[in-house]
Amino acid sequence: MIHTSAAQPVNAFPDTDIYTFLFEHFPPQRADHFQLDWDHRVATFTPNSVEFPIALWASQRLGGVVSAANPAFGVSELVYQLQTANASVLFLGHDQATLDVGLEAAKQVGLEKKRIVVIQDPQAVHKYSEANYGRIQKRTQGMWTVAGLVEEGREILQRQGPACLERRRFQPGESKSKLALLSFSSGTTGLPKGVAIQHSAPIANVLQLCAFNQISSRLGEDQGRFRPGTDIALGVLPQFHIYGLIVGVHTMFYAGVTNVIIPRFRGIEAMVKTIVKYGISIWWLVPPQIVLLCKDPSVPPYIEQLRKVCHFVMVGAAPLSDDLSRQFMRALPGIDWGQGYGMSETCTVTTMHPPGMDAVLGSAGRLISNTEARVVDAQGKDCGFDTPGELWIRGPQNTLGYSNNAKATAEMFLPDGWIRTGDEVVINRQGDVTIVDRLKELIKVKGFQVAPAELEGCILNQESVADVGVVGVTDEDNGECPLAFVVWKEEVRQKLQRGEVKEDDVVRQVVEFVKKEKVKYKHLGGVVVLDTIPKTASGKILRRNMREMAKKLDESV
Ligand code: AMP
Repeated sequence: MIHTSAAQPVNAFPDTDIYTFLFEHFPPQRADHFQLDWDHRVATFTPNSVEFPIALWASQRLGGVVSAANPAFGVSELVYQLQTANASVLFLGHDQATLDVGLEAAKQVGLEKKRIVVIQDPQAVHKYSEANYGRIQKRTQGMWTVAGLVEEGREILQRQGPACLERRRFQPGESKSKLALLSFSSGTTGLPKGVAIQHSAPIANVLQLCAFNQISSRLGEDQGRFRPGTDIALGVLPQFHIYGLIVGVHTMFYAGVTNVIIPRFRGIEAMVKTIVKYGISIWWLVPPQIVLLCKDPSVPPYIEQLRKVCHFVMVGAAPLSDDLSRQFMRALPGIDWGQGYGMSETCTVTTMHPPGMDAVLGSAGRLISNTEARVVDAQGKDCGFDTPGELWIRGPQNTLGYSNNAKATAEMFLPDGWIRTGDEVVINRQGDVTIVDRLKELIKVKGFQVAPAELEGCILNQESVADVGVVGVTDEDNGECPLAFVVWKEEVRQKLQRGEVKEDDVVRQVVEFVKKEKVKYKHLGGVVVLDTIPKTASGKILRRNMREMAKKLDESV
């Protein structure tokens, strides 16, 4: 059975590039200058900033394909993304940590300084950080800044007139094949891969979200969720991740909603104070922020003010437990809120809590406009209502596959347009979609992806480890955390037997090794020592067995 969205459909999706879609009513103000060739890959490595969309849309207007990396990454993680995305330009945040990692990674992949654009003008930095100015200026010498590029463009425009703004327009159909973004996701298995996102996918998702949220059976058009000119949205979700990028950056911009951009999430009290200060009415959040909103002692004094300003809250990117949902409803009674569900491969949202209805506990909402779903069992047969199975999604937001990875693409992107999500769901007769389990290996910590294969590759480089398997285990604050099952090398076993080393110390070395190599949310929550890693005859790690072992260990503690 194919479930079809009951929401107001979008009747036409413009066949164009994102830049034209977003700016067709505004004459462009910036000139083409920085040499960027069609289909060139552009990486960004920066905390959230108001300049990020400038870098993004300017690059895309010039035909660039943008791959945004997590600004918390270490050097090896950024090098991996720069190499896998084949980036020839890097937009870099100006703060100390970002510059340190970004410049070292650029050096390692051989990116010249003139191919690096600093996302904040050091002149602007000077205004609020005297001490840093000299150092930053020295380190960024020979690099462009976004403000510098804008200025150059303005001069060229003055010299050459509006004709220099002529740009290549898509031929009919090109929006469905030309890439706009390469967002990284590990999909159902293996290492992070670049999801090939064509221009038409984010355009579709923006329009689907606007249609779904503006119009419902109970609400008039002018009372929709996104009220242009009135609402103010919380821009705390990372702009490098597909959720923050499509919902926060694109949809809010298109809907005419002001976005308050917060460089990084720096604790719940700071976030709550910002909400109150700017009267932020639309909150895009992830489950760990709900945990903090419900439990952190700094929040209760602001509750009344929060209730007053709040118009709508969506929670997505990871599961939200029923218990937490109840606590949230108790903390902020009567607000319009609910979960949404999507993934990088579906260029974000596929289900969302419909306007004008109370949130259904545990449900991730209903199919958004123009979206179809199937629930399929292990034999590939469609399941009925209320029967769990893998969720398959089809809609104009679906992406093209993984860049340069035909095998992974074929496993997940089916020829008739369906994407196998790797998530187990139940759909009831009302159309409520509930995510019940994750069939794929992916671990989600604070809403961020952690690929077990990536951690396994890292841990295997640690001197004591002969074999390893990583799974996710439930963690109250972060949703999940990675747990490593390790097998020691023979010489380590012998040393342990002879009492020359203590197991606790060897375990600690493994934990520290991962800490040194990987961004914080990938750090291990624990290590379990085994004699062998459970595997199939063909050598595939049996993660389900390890998850069960982890559950038993947890129960026995
Ligand atoms: P990403 O590509 O990083 O957005 O990760 C997508 C994955 O996050 C999905 O396949 C799900 O496993 C998980 N996810 C996203 N939203 C939800 C949700 N509301 N409930 C449960 N899991 C979710």
